[in-house]
Amino acid sequence: MKYQFKVTQTQNSTLSAVDFDNLPFGKTFSDHMFVADYIGGQWTNLEIRPVAPLPTHPGNMAWHYGQEIFEGMKATRDAEGTPLLYRPERHAKRMNYSARRMCMPEIPEDLFLQAIHTLVHMERAWIPPQAGSALYIRPFMYATDETIGVKASDTYRFIIFVMPVGPYYSQPVKLWAQDTYVRAVVGGVGDAKTAGNYAASLLPAAMARKQGFDQVMWLDGVHKKYIQEIGTMNIFFVIGDEIVTPNLDGAILDGITRECVITLLKDWGLKVSERPITIDEIVQAHKEGRLVESFGTGTAAVIAPVARIGYKDYIMDLDQNIDKISTKVYNTINGIRNRTITDKFGWIVPAQP
Ligand SMILES: *Cc1c(COP(=O)(O)O)cnc(C)c1O
Repeated sequence: MKYQFKVTQTQNSTLSAVDFDNLPFGKTFSDHMFVADYIGGQWTNLEIRPVAPLPTHPGNMAWHYGQEIFEGMKATRDAEGTPLLYRPERHAKRMNYSARRMCMPEIPEDLFLQAIHTLVHMERAWIPPQAGSALYIRPFMYATDETIGVKASDTYRFIIFVMPVGPYYSQPVKLWAQDTYVRAVVGGVGDAKTAGNYAASLLPAAMARKQGFDQVMWLDGVHKKYIQEIGTMNIFFVIGDEIVTPNLDGAILDGITRECVITLLKDWGLKVSERPITIDEIVQAHKEGRLVESFGTGTAAVIAPVARIGYKDYIMDLDQNIDKISTKVYNTINGIRNRTITDKFGWIVPAQP
């Protein structure tokens, strides 16, 4: 191993208090986290230590100007308990893509990967064995200069913590395609995994919930008609025998689950298109009875079947009692993740100490 990490073990593990059969998403933290500082142009103070609050100066630049990026990935285990990572190098690359866009330093891929491997291996007892459950991994980086004034920070902190999570969505989701607010425009930061994108989404999401929907289906910022993605996921539609997902246009987040789903569907010989798709095309397909199915894809939920799409006054309900493609995709990805299905694409990497 190339990098040397200082390791401080917790004296108060909370593992025995956790009920793996009843995990609320995003509330249970494991014992340890990885922390590193970027100072003087170098990543330093590489450390694994107990999860605890970190004191922060009120002038911390991340709080004022929003330089923050993150990743979300999952570790699972096979029947023998081997901790397994899922395409970690893709997440390392995307983290650095986001870093470049937000004018932040890149993290050497080998450092990112060694930190993930070491931390997940150390926390492997926190990986829930239940099907559909996983250890959610949250790497993130933020500015740490204590300066008021808009510029890129000179110093940063990179942290990774992990959390056991149960299946994310149990119910098919209801989506609201609205044309008041937009998530991103081409040339903006929609394809970077940065905190501000989510801050901007909260008000429209609250409005969607008030109207009885779960999430917003985002339309493009210029024409307000091309479908981009939903909440925290990319989106797929089955129209007749074609499976369509919006092409990556620079405003859409380049989802790794999206990429896996496209690979699987093509491998099964199905017709998959990455192309512009308007909400009007979806409405038309629904009216003609050709909108068979829709689903969201993302690390947290893996697959979220869509139950309903609302656009203006038109409501599209999708039959959930069909032999869904999304169910087969979900079962395949979960099977690859716990090694009950052959990993023919080489997505699984055992975590090394
Ligand atoms: C992370 C994310 C996704 C899904 O990406 P995955 O790599 O599949 O987890 C989709 N949309 C947005 C806005 C995201 O932040």
